[in-house]
Amino acid sequence: MERNRRIFVAGHEAMAGAAVLHRLEAAGYTNLISPDSARLDLTDQKMVFDFFMTERPNYVFLASAKVGGILANSRFPAEFIYTNIQSQSNVIHAAWKSGVRKLLFLASSCVYPKDCPQPMKEEYLLSGKLEPTSEPYAVAKIAGVRMCQSYREQYGVNFISAVPADLYGPMDDFNPETGHVLASLLAKMYQAKTSDQTEVMVWGTGSPRRECLHVDDLADACLFLMDNYDDPGVINIGSGQDVSIRELAGLIKEIVGFEGDIIFDKSKPDGAPRKLLDANKISKLGWSLRISLENGIRQTYEWYVSLMHRKEKLY
Ligand code: GDP
Repeated sequence: MERNRRIFVAGHEAMAGAAVLHRLEAAGYTNLISPDSARLDLTDQKMVFDFFMTERPNYVFLASAKVGGILANSRFPAEFIYTNIQSQSNVIHAAWKSGVRKLLFLASSCVYPKDCPQPMKEEYLLSGKLEPTSEPYAVAKIAGVRMCQSYREQYGVNFISAVPADLYGPMDDFNPETGHVLASLLAKMYQAKTSDQTEVMVWGTGSPRRECLHVDDLADACLFLMDNYDDPGVINIGSGQDVSIRELAGLIKEIVGFEGDIIFDKSKPDGAPRKLLDANKISKLGWSLRISLENGIRQTYEWYVSLMHRKEKLY
């Protein structure tokens, strides 16, 4: 991507898109388009088409998505499938219509089958049944991947898809009711520590394993793929390493400095037993991540604490 190219980051008001936008700014890109959601509702087809025809971006990072943790996915399946299919379809179709040079669509590791061999290679996509707790979201993401491939086949456009591991970092959803495990446990343990609670509930058995990717590493990989990847198949973005929820809870406890007990609430679902991505394809191209899980959690925790302090001052 030449530095003066017009670039649209869809989803820049949320964690992944914001990180991509910051990374582009830091790399010296200046022709960035990022209207706020009040001006550009991605679920509104006409608004999206008008936007693309007027703004004419050359490159698109499609990082917008309605995301959530295991509980949010089970409570709001209709919102997850509708919002994601609608907004990504609008963006992909408008990108083709308006002559976008290249588009990167971000999928999710839940697109792979529930009982996928581990680590999960790109070719395992669509080889088995999905994990039920995230199926509507995963179906929407698979539709996005297949849409990019179909537009390539029929229209010859350079639309690619990547599958990141579970994201975390500043601007994550720290609401334990709706967020993913890492941010939820950071928030719960911070609350417990600051209000002298003696226990924190961790959902499920603690035995599922998850691979966590810091959002700044994701952003770095997105720019790398825009410059170095042109194939129709998906490409994984990950570290090749995962941890059990029990280990993750222990690490977060230590970083937060919570001294009480961790209790496992087995009435809550475990979800997929494991979601470790095979990162060989992207590492052969020359990309590797920089932020270790421990450093990433520390940095995210510092960000969260300063957010909490700012909120306390306001009220
Ligand atoms: P998933 O990767 O789609 O299953 O989504 P999550 O990140 O929400 O959950 C990952 C795993 O962490 C599941 O086994 C959850 O049961 C477990 N978990 C433990 N405590 C929590 C919590 O406080 N919040 C969330 N969201 N998950 C938790």
